[in-house]
Amino acid sequence: MSVETQKETLGFQTEVKQLLHLMIHSLYSNKEIFLRELISNASDAVDKLRFEALSKPDLLEGGAELKIRVSFDKDAKTVTLEDNGIGMSREDAITHLGTIAKSGTADFMKNLSGDQKKDSHLIGQFGVGFYSAFIVADKVEVFSRRAGVPASEGVHWASKGEGEFEIATLEKADRGTRIVLHLKSAEGEFADGYRLRNIIKKYSDHIALPIQLPKEQAAVEGEAAPEQEWETVNRASALWTRPRTEVTDEEYQEFYKHVAHDFENPLSWSHNKVEGKLEYSSLLYVPGRAPFDLYQREAPRGLKLYVQRVFVMDQAESFLPLYMRFIKGVVDSNDLSLNVSREILQKDPIIDSMKSALTKRVLDMLEKLAKNEPEQYKGFWKNFGQVMKEGPAEDFANKEKIAGLLRFASTHEDGGEQVVALAEYLARAKEGQDKIYYLTGETYAQVKNSPHLEVFRKKGIEVLLLTDRIDEWLMSYLSDFDGKGFVDVARGDLDLGKLDSEEDKKAQEEVAKDKEGLIERLKVALGDAVSEVRVSHRLTDSPAILAIGEQDLGLQMRQILEASGQKVPDSKPIFEFNPAHPLIAKLDTEQSEERFGDLSHILFDQAALAAGDSLKDPAAYVRRLNKLLVELSV
Ligand code: ADP
Repeated sequence: MSVETQKETLGFQTEVKQLLHLMIHSLYSNKEIFLRELISNASDAVDKLRFEALSKPDLLEGGAELKIRVSFDKDAKTVTLEDNGIGMSREDAITHLGTIAKSGTADFMKNLSGDQKKDSHLIGQFGVGFYSAFIVADKVEVFSRRAGVPASEGVHWASKGEGEFEIATLEKADRGTRIVLHLKSAEGEFADGYRLRNIIKKYSDHIALPIQLPKEQAAVEGEAAPEQEWETVNRASALWTRPRTEVTDEEYQEFYKHVAHDFENPLSWSHNKVEGKLEYSSLLYVPGRAPFDLYQREAPRGLKLYVQRVFVMDQAESFLPLYMRFIKGVVDSNDLSLNVSREILQKDPIIDSMKSALTKRVLDMLEKLAKNEPEQYKGFWKNFGQVMKEGPAEDFANKEKIAGLLRFASTHEDGGEQVVALAEYLARAKEGQDKIYYLTGETYAQVKNSPHLEVFRKKGIEVLLLTDRIDEWLMSYLSDFDGKGFVDVARGDLDLGKLDSEEDKKAQEEVAKDKEGLIERLKVALGDAVSEVRVSHRLTDSPAILAIGEQDLGLQMRQILEASGQKVPDSKPIFEFNPAHPLIAKLDTEQSEERFGDLSHILFDQAALAAGDSLKDPAAYVRRLNKLLVELSV
C-alpha cells in the first residue's frame, strides 16, 4: 500500500451525527438494507461516469466494463464493495461523506423528539444512503479516485461513525470507489457469500449493471490458488425496459427505493411504454409519505432522465408540473439527444407533449388508487392533498380531473377529516340541488359552528368545510364540477334555488317588506361599517350574520394578503339579521336610539367574531356590552 499524505481528522456536520445516531438505533430490525443503499450509490456513480464519458471517452481509462463487485473475508469480518464508477476526489469525500447537503435538514433535525420510535419514522423522509454502513460496521473505510485524475490523487476516508472521520491522500490505480466495512462483532453473519447473494437478489436485482460475487472455487492441494473468478448474481437489465407482466411488485418496490432514495415502499406506480411519433418509457411512483422539504421552493424535484438507457440527469423537473413535485421515477426517451441540457429541456416542444402525457398518467394513476384503494388514497391525501390543491391554478387543462381527486371535510362527516369527493357530494345531494355549497374559514371548529350553516343544517343540505390556507385561492380557480356551480355560503345573497319552496320565498318577501323600517334604522345606526342591511334567509338560531359581497375578497385571502404586506381593498360586509330571533324583536321595539345603536353594534361585532374575524374596536364592544349587562342587573 502506498504512503498516505495530507492526513487530517475532521468532524461530521451536526446533522450527520444526529442522523447516524438515529439510524444506528432505529434500523436494527432491518440491517441488511445497508447493502442495498451502498449498491444504489455505486450504481449512481457508474451512471454518472457513463454519461460523462460520452463527451470525454478518456474517463473510461480503458476499462469500459462497468460493474460492482462485492467480496468478503470471513476471518477478518469484512465486506467490501467496489465499483468502477465516477469516484470521488478528496473534496468530494469531505463534503459528500461528512455533510448532508439537503437544505432545511438542520431545521428538520430540530424537530426530533428524542423518542426513538417517533424519530425513526422521520428518518424515512431522508433516505439513509451511505451512512447506513454504520448499522452493521463499527469502522468504515472508503478508498476512491475520481475518473480522469492521476492515480496519485486517490483518497482514503475512514470513520468509526462517532463524530469524526479521517481523510488522507493516497495512490489508487483504478478509478472508482471501494468501501470496506469492518463488521461489528455481532454482525459477522454478513461476511458470507450465500447471505450476500440473497440480499443482492432481494433488493438489487433491478440494478442495470452487473453485481458480482466471487465464485466459489475449490483449492487444489499443492497448486497455487487460481485467479479469482467472479459471477454476476443479478439480472442486470434496466427494469423499465422489461414488459410489465414480467416485473413483480417486489421488484417495482425495490426499484422505487433506489430511484427515490426512500426506504419505505411506494403507494402506487405506473409503468408505460409509448411508441409512435415519440418513443419513451416511463415509470412513475407515488411515495408513501411526504418528504420534509415538500414545501421548500428550492427542494429538488423531478424525474431521473435517461436517453436510450443512458442516465442523463437527476431531477429533470420539466416533465411534470409543480403540483406533482412529489412524484418520483424515471423517463427514458429515444428522441432526445444525449447532450440535452436543462435549458434545452425547458424549451423543447417534445418535452411539452411528454409533460402533458406524463401528467395524465399521474392523474390516471391517482384516480385508480382512489377508486380501488380508498383507504390508501386517504393516506395519499393526508400527505399530498395540499399540494394537489395547487393543481387547478397551475394546470387549467386538467382542472376537472384534478377537481375529481380533491377531498374535503364536510358537515356530513364527523371529525373534520378531508374525505369527501365532489362526486360523492353530488351523488347524495338533495333533490333539486344544483349547486355545491362550501364555507371557508380558519379552523374546523370555527366553520363547523358557523351561523352561516344554520339554514343548511335545518334543511339537511351538505356543505363542504374548507380550512386549509390555500382553500379560498383554490376555490377562486374552480367554478363548477360536473356542471354544478360552487357557491360560497358566506357570500352574496344566498339563493337556495329549488331548495326553497314557493311558500318559503313568498314568506321571505313578506318579512322583508314588513321589516323595512327596522332595516332603515339599522342602516343609520351601523352607518359606514356595512355596505347593506337585509333580512337573512340563512339563520335559524343566531340573531345576525355578516355576508361577504359577491365580488369582495374572502377573509382568508384578505388575511394572507395582509400578512404578506400587500394593500387590500377595503370591503364592507352585508349585515343580515334574523327577524325571528327574540333579540331582533326586542331591537325592533327599542325606543331609545342610544340603546338601539349599542345593541346593533354588539350584534354586528358578534357576527364578525363568529366569522373568525377580529374586531376593529374591541374596547368599544366590551364597553357597550358591559353597559347592557349593568342595565340588565338593575
Ligand atoms: P445520496 O445518495 O442520497 O445523495 P448518500 O449519503 O448515500 O446520499 O451519498 C452521499 C453522496 O456521496 C452521493 O450523493 C455521492 O455524491 C457520494 N457517493 C456515495 N457513494 C459513492 C460511490 N460509490 N461513488 C461515488 N460517489 C459516491
